[in-house]
Amino acid sequence: MPATMKCFVMHGVGRVGLADKPVPRAGPNDAVVRTTAALVCTSDCHTVAGALGDRHGLTLGHEAVGVVHELGEVAAASGRFKLGQRVAVSAITPCYACDNCQRGYPSQCGGLLGGWKFANLKDGSFAEYFHVNDAVANLAPIPDGLTDEQAAYCCDMLSTGLVAAEAADIPMGGSVAVFSQGPVGLMATAGARLRGAGLVIGVESVPNRVALALKYGCDVVIDFTREDPVAAILKLTGGQGVDSAVEVLGTAATFAACVGVTRPGGTVSNVGYHGDGESVPIPRLAWGVGMGDKTIRTSLCPGGSERMGRLMRLVAAGRIDPLPLTTHRFGFGEIGTAFAMMRTKEDGMIKPLITFA
Ligand SMILES: [Zn+2]
Ligand SMILES: [Zn+2]
Repeated sequence: MPATMKCFVMHGVGRVGLADKPVPRAGPNDAVVRTTAALVCTSDCHTVAGALGDRHGLTLGHEAVGVVHELGEVAAASGRFKLGQRVAVSAITPCYACDNCQRGYPSQCGGLLGGWKFANLKDGSFAEYFHVNDAVANLAPIPDGLTDEQAAYCCDMLSTGLVAAEAADIPMGGSVAVFSQGPVGLMATAGARLRGAGLVIGVESVPNRVALALKYGCDVVIDFTREDPVAAILKLTGGQGVDSAVEVLGTAATFAACVGVTRPGGTVSNVGYHGDGESVPIPRLAWGVGMGDKTIRTSLCPGGSERMGRLMRLVAAGRIDPLPLTTHRFGFGEIGTAFAMMRTKEDGMIKPLITFA
């Protein structure tokens, strides 16, 4: 067994690079996975920009799959996994034992956003090996028919995009607006269609994202650089507004627009990462001065092997094909280039796939 491994770490706010660290070891309930494929996320860029403070020396990454390298004694005794088995691990790895987990909010494990452990509370998965806490609940076997790349999309893009549609409480045949058609927004669009939306309106301006938005199920895409999206959505819905608005981008402007386009009794579903500013304003009049029967829901990527199994089934059954999201491919040694491009979305980047030798 190798003693050390390469990882891609945050050296400080705005600074990243490759580093050597010891290969992690599994405690009794844990596992160590040898990484085979990973995806870079805009959340990683927010983290490096300082949104969580200085996570000095922390290994980045939270979307990865691989093979079981080590099992702790309790995890091994479960009999559910064997060494060398292909597994996917959600970006969120709750303990499934604490109060918030037992209350039904495992993404808030142990405290606000506490289920988000990779590259937040502990080293992430941009490494040749990564540690998985509470392995029985968090390791999801990858079905034989699924590639590592397909499975990697289930870790965050599908889980977050689909929970955005699930939390949006879309009535059958209802209308939905999805603000921004990046990778999570595209999966939210696909999710809105799966949940029975009758009208899906995307908001996006980047040409390759607009094309994918139409492919994944938008009936119309509004270019916010050419027209005011709130006015356009109200016009498309006969002045009524949509049943559900999905906020994926994490800006004050798109959040306010979501409140503005949601009809009374409707739902704003926020999964956007609001990475700066001290507050996120709610437009007072569009909110019915606080009495408009508009529900605002917030969700963090749900984790756990049961959900991962369902997401992988959707891909295996051909209900959702995430592979068009991969616009670029890199070996692990080139991850610095992938990361730099992801910050600016250079060259039409949507998701870069990182493969490990
Ligand atoms: Zn992510
Ligand atoms: Zn917990």
